[in-house]
Amino acid sequence: MPGGRLETEGLTKTFGDVVAADDVTVTFEPGECHGIIGPNGSGKTTLFDLVMGFQRPDSGVVRFDGEDITGMRPDQVARRGLVRTFQITAPFERLTVRENLLSVYTGGLGSGLRVPTETHERAAELLDLLDLDRVADHDASDISGGQQKLLELGRATMLEPECVLLDEPTAGVNPAIQDRVLSALREMNDGGTTVVVIEHDMSVVGDIADRITVLDGGRVLTQGAFSTVTSDERVRDAYIGT
Ligand code: ADP
Repeated sequence: MPGGRLETEGLTKTFGDVVAADDVTVTFEPGECHGIIGPNGSGKTTLFDLVMGFQRPDSGVVRFDGEDITGMRPDQVARRGLVRTFQITAPFERLTVRENLLSVYTGGLGSGLRVPTETHERAAELLDLLDLDRVADHDASDISGGQQKLLELGRATMLEPECVLLDEPTAGVNPAIQDRVLSALREMNDGGTTVVVIEHDMSVVGDIADRITVLDGGRVLTQGAFSTVTSDERVRDAYIGT
């Protein structure tokens, strides 16, 4: 059975008077592409923070491939094959784009670690997939913001995660870069990686997601197939007006 099954049970987190996660029980199945939608402030980012160990839940459990990972640190979670794009450190600006991909293995500058041939090959494949091959030997500080987003996705992909969490990966990028991001996501997903993506653009969600979860006020309003969920009146009510 493929890995990458992520589930939460009764996750709750309050900030003062705000219940940012209210008894959240969700399942992301191995190999699916899952969209998370909901109005601003509905708890989407908090859910990722709780899953990745950036925030500790007040109560509830997070399981990854059956293992209880609640309260683990982000690096411990990442080592188990669950990564979040922005959790990958910002590009090393003084390294080239290619070196940034390779540094996921070497841990940065001057580690003295020899990079295996297959890692070089994987980096070259990703540079091609993400259309970064033309800027592969430029400093990461010299590429556009959209290209930096692609590089961030590439760095996450270098880790060959079982499951990747993405927070609005196409926000603020031009249409050409958006297409690249989406095709890279599809490719990762076709390769068996579970993809969970927060996305406000419903046409993007409909395009890539098998199933979606709708959050509202920290609660799960519903989870299911895209077409079923989007025809639900409560979803329209919660989602329209954002
Ligand atoms: P979304 O990602 O859906 O926009 P968030 O998860 O960012 O929603 O926020 C959910 C609610 O929790 C919001 O009301 C937000 O203000 C609050 N919140 C999130 N993180 C914090 C924090 N670190 N401290 C205080 N309040 C927070």
